[in-house]
Amino acid sequence: MTEREITSLTNDTVKAVRALHMRKERETTGLFLAEGLKFIGEALDQGRTPRTLLVGMEARPHPLLDRARAETRAAGGEIVVVTHPILEKISRRENPQTVLAVFEQNFTPLSALNPKSAPCWVALEQVRDPGNLGTIIRTADAAGCGGVILIGDCVDPFSVEAVRATMGSVFAVSISKASPTEFLAWRETWPGSVIGTRLDATTGYRDAAIQTPALILMGNEQAGLTDELAAACDVNVKIPMRGRADSLNLAVATGVMVYAVTDAA
Ligand code: SAM
Repeated sequence: MTEREITSLTNDTVKAVRALHMRKERETTGLFLAEGLKFIGEALDQGRTPRTLLVGMEARPHPLLDRARAETRAAGGEIVVVTHPILEKISRRENPQTVLAVFEQNFTPLSALNPKSAPCWVALEQVRDPGNLGTIIRTADAAGCGGVILIGDCVDPFSVEAVRATMGSVFAVSISKASPTEFLAWRETWPGSVIGTRLDATTGYRDAAIQTPALILMGNEQAGLTDELAAACDVNVKIPMRGRADSLNLAVATGVMVYAVTDAA
């Protein structure tokens, strides 16, 4: 397939890609936007190819760009060459990446997860901040976790802001979503420890006897972990607050927890 050149800001492809900033559009199409060659390289390494590859006219030659072009073409995706103003408009940034790509979203059903494939998994209840969620996905990847499970009404992991914060780990870590009821039923089948994190817990985060695979439950940024989910845990733990701060940022607390578990595993 030959590459198409687009120069008009009102072109239909430009409008469709730009619309992926809206959650409703992402839900309807099942697509999301990733920016930059690093992200695209992560995706290709995981066997994921762009539906649409948008290459800025000023993009410098790069072996990874050649690979992205070849694999997109081979998988039947579309390649479009676009102007700088189009990159700016799509990414809503003054200094946009010179290569953008549209991918299919990939949610893994709970029933398809293999808990024993990793020592640690993370479940988030009603996470609301896209930066927190992206950072947690990146941290889960870095620590060697199997995946991230979103419980209840969470921010979209495929929003442009969340994807940016993952730094490419959105392609490396499985992402699942479940209602609280679905999660609680699935939790019954969990083969290791289920660990809640609460500020009112009396057990220190290093003091709990943990059996891997560990499933770590993190609460909402404002309300914390609900009583319902905390009651479903084998143990609830607290990271000590030694200064005046009454809690840690959610992503930081998740980082502390996943490294404590994976280092001990
Ligand atoms: N006001 C909320 C509360 O009472 O739980 C604070 C929520 S905190 C910002 C968000 C989440 O980060 C918590 O639900 C918990 O999962 C985790 N977290 C933050 N600090 C923690 C700590 N010191 N010990 C255990 N978990 C913590």
